[in-house]
Amino acid sequence: MRYSQTLLPTLKETPAEAEVVSHRLMLRAGFIRKLTAGIYSYLPLGLKAIRKVENIVREEMNLAGAQEMLMPMVQPADLWVETGRYAKYGPELLRFHDRHNRESCLGPTHEEVITDIARKELHSYRDLPINLYQIQTKFRDEIRPRFGLMRGREFVMKDAYSFDVSDEAASESYRKMYEAYKRIFSRCGLEFRAVQADSGAIGGSFSHEFMVLADTGEDTIVVCKDCEFAANMEKAAVVMQEAGDTTPLAELEKVETPGKRKVKTVCEYLGIDSTELVKTLVFKADGDTVAALVRGDREIEEVKLKNLLGVADLEMAEDKEVFDATGVPTGYLGPVGISVKVVADQEVAAMKNFYVGGNEKNYHMKNVNLGRDFEVEAIADLRQITTSDPCPECGGQLATTEGIEVGHVFKLGTGYSESMNATFQDSDGQEKHFVMGCYGIGVTRVVAAAIEQNHDENGIIFPLPLAPYSVVIVNLGLSDAEINGAAEKLYADFQEAGVEVIIDDRDERPGFKFKDADLLGIPYRVTVGKGYKESGKVEIKKRKDGVVEEMTPEDALNTLQERIQLELNESRNI
Ligand SMILES: [Zn+2]
Repeated sequence: MRYSQTLLPTLKETPAEAEVVSHRLMLRAGFIRKLTAGIYSYLPLGLKAIRKVENIVREEMNLAGAQEMLMPMVQPADLWVETGRYAKYGPELLRFHDRHNRESCLGPTHEEVITDIARKELHSYRDLPINLYQIQTKFRDEIRPRFGLMRGREFVMKDAYSFDVSDEAASESYRKMYEAYKRIFSRCGLEFRAVQADSGAIGGSFSHEFMVLADTGEDTIVVCKDCEFAANMEKAAVVMQEAGDTTPLAELEKVETPGKRKVKTVCEYLGIDSTELVKTLVFKADGDTVAALVRGDREIEEVKLKNLLGVADLEMAEDKEVFDATGVPTGYLGPVGISVKVVADQEVAAMKNFYVGGNEKNYHMKNVNLGRDFEVEAIADLRQITTSDPCPECGGQLATTEGIEVGHVFKLGTGYSESMNATFQDSDGQEKHFVMGCYGIGVTRVVAAAIEQNHDENGIIFPLPLAPYSVVIVNLGLSDAEINGAAEKLYADFQEAGVEVIIDDRDERPGFKFKDADLLGIPYRVTVGKGYKESGKVEIKKRKDGVVEEMTPEDALNTLQERIQLELNESRNI
């Protein structure tokens, strides 16, 4: 492709509307343009990157035995009423009436449509297993669309749905998709982790999220440096070290702590470490008051507490609410003799002779022991994991990182097939409900996530498999027959060799062209300029590491062709 003939409106300035790196760079590189809130046009280079992702997804889905199809974007409301989601989905589902006043919606997902196809077209266990997928534009009416393609209202998604005879068979379909997803994101050249996740609104028995690791993600995840373990911060289990503390229990004492209410000031005043103290935190849990105990230096993980209590609503109680429920002023609350329900983090149960609030203004208690001095309703893992905790799986070193969700695999079970009465005849003659799975990849989001993970201050650094072009030739001698001739010949040779190449043949200053080449993130830049006249050599620069080499145009062609092939092969053979 010739730069001079491409719609590639790069921008020097950072657009004010862009809040995150990928959004900023995709606008600046002329990949996307906003039509209206959360809705973008994909310009030629942006679309090329999207197509790269689609092609990888398509190849791997086909290899995994799935079949491509295409379902309508407009869906009748009746189907959604059958599953109860028409009422439940909320305002993200864009609803409208057609000219015959039929209620309709724009598909944010396609479980209803595919289940309708299954109940009409699949009749026997002999038709199963089957996995059907599509790559299609989806619409979700996000209340606050932002971050460009990261959280738009309209986006391209791959969604797949599997149908099986049994739970066991469905697990096998799930495993195949899980493996296919690992290959897909590896082939995209991305650093990612599969994280065990809650299944959220779609429901189902279990699920994994595929997260691209970046500094700017929406979720904090904890990963192991020594094995494949990865989990959402809220869900990561803390493994207890062996207790083995044989210290004898000492006598309970009251100690004066005048005006000291915070962990830090109490510890300073008493000359103790925060690991010797236990915090008593009070929550409102579905209207009830609950006290939770954690070691002084730890943070409570509210998701874990919520799961333990089995409540929908959990929030820290206000000081006044704490006083009303316990009669103890803020900062002096402890578990000994209080009237509200108390639960403790597992670490507290292993502690001996610790400090707590004295349930009286200006006092704390010392040498407190769970079991001797107070009882709790439950002991559980309630605190946030830290990077000094061991990996729950291998005991290795943990690290935290941000993650961007780009894929999600769900084992759905029979929820949809039951509500829509989708059945097949099994080998024993019985009518049974299909056991389903669903598997999504945010195609446009993958491109944004790739940029969040791979960029520098000069622009995008595309992983080769997603780059709109592998090579950009910068022609610096449009009016010089010798330079121009060499650049044009090299361009023709790359094309003939099947390398995706764009030539910057615009009448612009060298600095301007170099800046654009960096901004676009094309993996290899070949510059044909004055040096060619002097030495017969062109300059190759790798976008990722900035390494520059000089060689003849023939060598440049052969070298790059070889390297590109090698890199693509490597990403295939994970
Ligand atoms: Zn590990």
